Amino acid sequence: MTQWVYGFGAGRNEGRADMRNLLGGKGANLAEMASIGLPVPPGFTITTELCTEFYRNDRRYPDDLAAQVKEGLQRVEQAVGLTFGDRTNPLLVSVRSGARVSMPGMMDTVLNLGLNDQTVEGLARASGDDRFAWDSYRRFIQMFGSVVLGVDHHRFEEIIEHIKLDRNVIEDTALDAADWRKVVAGYKDMVLSETGKPFPQDPEEQLWGAIGAVFGSWMNPRAITYRRLHEIPADWGTAVNVQAMVFGNMGEDCATGVCFTRDPSTGENIFYGEFLVNAQGEDVVAGIRTPQPLSKARAKPGERSMEEALPKAYEELCQVRETLEKHYKDMQDIEFTVQRNTLYMLQTRSGKRTAAASLRIAVEMANEGLIDRNEAVKRVNPASLDQLLHPTLDPKAPRTVFSRGLPASPGAACGAVVFNADEAEMRAAKGEAVILVRIETSPEDIHGMHAAKGILTTRGGMTSHAAVVARGMGRPCVAGAGGIQVDYGTQELSANGITIREGEIVTLDGATGEVFVGPVAMIEPSLSGDFATLMEWADGARRMKVRANAETPLDAETARKFGAEGIGLCRTEHMFFDPERIGAVRQMIMAADERGRRLALEKLLPFQRKDFTDLFRIMQGLPVTIRLLDPPLHEFLPHNEEDLAEVGVALGVDLDTIRRRAAELAEANPMLGHRGCRLGISFPEIYEMQARAIFEGALAIAEETGNAPVPEVMVPLVGIKREIEIVRAQIEKVAAEVFSRAGRTLDYTIGTMIELPRAALSADTIADSADFFSFGTNDLTQTVFGLSRDDAGKFLPHYVEAGILPKDPFISLDEEGVGYLIEIAAKKGRAARHGLKLGICGEHGGDPSSISFCEKVGLDYVSCSPYRVPVARLAAAQAALGAGGDRTA
Ligand code: PEP
Ligand code: MG
Repeated sequence: MTQWVYGFGAGRNEGRADMRNLLGGKGANLAEMASIGLPVPPGFTITTELCTEFYRNDRRYPDDLAAQVKEGLQRVEQAVGLTFGDRTNPLLVSVRSGARVSMPGMMDTVLNLGLNDQTVEGLARASGDDRFAWDSYRRFIQMFGSVVLGVDHHRFEEIIEHIKLDRNVIEDTALDAADWRKVVAGYKDMVLSETGKPFPQDPEEQLWGAIGAVFGSWMNPRAITYRRLHEIPADWGTAVNVQAMVFGNMGEDCATGVCFTRDPSTGENIFYGEFLVNAQGEDVVAGIRTPQPLSKARAKPGERSMEEALPKAYEELCQVRETLEKHYKDMQDIEFTVQRNTLYMLQTRSGKRTAAASLRIAVEMANEGLIDRNEAVKRVNPASLDQLLHPTLDPKAPRTVFSRGLPASPGAACGAVVFNADEAEMRAAKGEAVILVRIETSPEDIHGMHAAKGILTTRGGMTSHAAVVARGMGRPCVAGAGGIQVDYGTQELSANGITIREGEIVTLDGATGEVFVGPVAMIEPSLSGDFATLMEWADGARRMKVRANAETPLDAETARKFGAEGIGLCRTEHMFFDPERIGAVRQMIMAADERGRRLALEKLLPFQRKDFTDLFRIMQGLPVTIRLLDPPLHEFLPHNEEDLAEVGVALGVDLDTIRRRAAELAEANPMLGHRGCRLGISFPEIYEMQARAIFEGALAIAEETGNAPVPEVMVPLVGIKREIEIVRAQIEKVAAEVFSRAGRTLDYTIGTMIELPRAALSADTIADSADFFSFGTNDLTQTVFGLSRDDAGKFLPHYVEAGILPKDPFISLDEEGVGYLIEIAAKKGRAARHGLKLGICGEHGGDPSSISFCEKVGLDYVSCSPYRVPVARLAAAQAALGAGGDRTA
């Protein structure tokens, strides 16, 4: 028999924290909390396996589920001394989803389940509070009605609005028991007319309805979108947690709250959270009432902290905080409820945090001795470092404050105001920077939040949907800016007498909560403090070196600042486009013969020599890999008649000749055409000039600094052993000439890119003439897939969406195909030449999962764009430490 149901609480804990895959995060942690003695209301978890089974079996449950659920429920009844469906002492339960990884707001929840026309009376008597009982019943009908029966939630709100109008009151809190009775009656009539069936009165039918809805919600569109954005497989499934209700809304000695054991924005070691007296769970997140702080020290004038309002429960909660951090050794995100001064824990999970907080928490926990340094290195998601490397507002820049809200997710963002998610997505797709402005966000807005540069809401706290989701996505967010009026109708927002219309620019500072009119200048981030500490620990743990792809002095300096240990790819063609040189490049292209080409190349030589001298100087003896010219020559000619004519005038050549030459050079398939070393073999004088510039530049730096650089000359697009032999001989000849003229020599190496399948397959023979290999995985992906890297954008996104490919192979290495070739080439190359140096310089060199693959294959270094160097340093450390896979929490 398969065990589908696992109990927790009241002395029977069948789950553990490490059973997250089976029980979902919530279920596993409820069992774990209960087992370490924390107050958890008893309940049971239906496994994620059941969800998978349910979908596999045409949305039918296995036969043995019902009996297990019944048994689970009976245990809860005994534990709390209440009976499900009992008229006098009814047990009420919550039914919540809980997948392996948290999907905030994605799945549906039903509270107060078990209430009906009879049990509501029992609840009223047992609690001694009529109003509470009828309010609970109407909440239940509302949640069940919308989640399970699919009734539009506006229909419920209309009924409440109607009764408030009748009673001439504004706030829900002004409604009494009799009013809520009327609301309930109105709800039931409405449900009957909307669904054609009366609201289910049988608690068991309610329970199965809710369980079915949770499992069903796994496939709702917003859950599917969330999974797609976070790369969560559909077959993970969700668990369902059924748990005895505790009430935070039974009076002034009750409360509900959400907190973090450390500050999720900054990582500071303070207890951080919000709570509401006399409220039920969703009220805090919904942002309708303003939550209050936990500790007195953090209360502002007019606020009443939990420490003051419920001192005993607060004291207990502080102890729980300590217990949880010591136990989980990580920052926790906690949900709790206080019922009549007694504290209950409803959830704990590893808390979502900003990149800055993640760093600070990892470093401080290691310094506190809670975790070791390697663990700290494994804790920080490399991709999230991106957030820290992005600019913040320049404090000296002029600005006009529009309004302010809560600093919900740090970073600065600037863009055109839009008021809905679809518009945000549409404009972003056209390359426009947008700020999504909403009164509050809901899971339906996810795609727009993702597309926007920043998010601004006028309602809700630090744990509102907008805040939590934006932090997770790394989007700057200002939440709960109550001073701003948003009018969706006129598409305007206004505050302090200023009105901003759709399409006008605002700037957000997610670290301070400020909103500014128009653009504000930004500055580069600082890389000291916790960042530097963690990077130092990462550097101590990693095996692979990290280099940068850089050709300009600015790029090289940025790369050094970010900790690059060399240049892995200097694309020399980028140097040819400079306005000072392009003329000489075109002259070379137009030359009728070798002599003409050499004359033009003479002009380029001093420029190239200076390029390389500058790079060697900046890199201070670190390795610099310089790739000889790669692109086909026609890339250096303009494409339209007018520009061609201009080139003609500049070079003193008539338009016809230029046209003819352009036509000669045109290719049907330039990526597979006359480029790379094919060019160097046809026109050896080009590579000769470049080699000369490299060696002369290196000698100049050796003179200048007394420290000789070791240039690595790299030949692109080699596919045949003979190609590298020919080019190698050319380079060696130039080196010998330069050295003999200078009267001194230099160490240097000559290597090749491996970016063609044939090169990978014949790597052993190529290795005879190559001192190093650098995998050019951009071209290798293109040629292995037979997929043009310039045209793939038209259909690749669809391939990924439809699951034909798990990821875009130009972003994340295709291990099965491209990776397999890399493995072959690495093995063959090293077998043929002992100590052959191996690196990667395609875009994948900065992608954490590809870097983990590079570690497995034993590459010596990865090379990526300067801004990704820190990401690569951390990812390489994690790969060396064997940190795997799941960093979603
Ligand atoms: C590559 O092909 O992976 C590479 C680094 O070269 P480029 O992108 O310049 O073709
Ligand atoms: Mg290439």
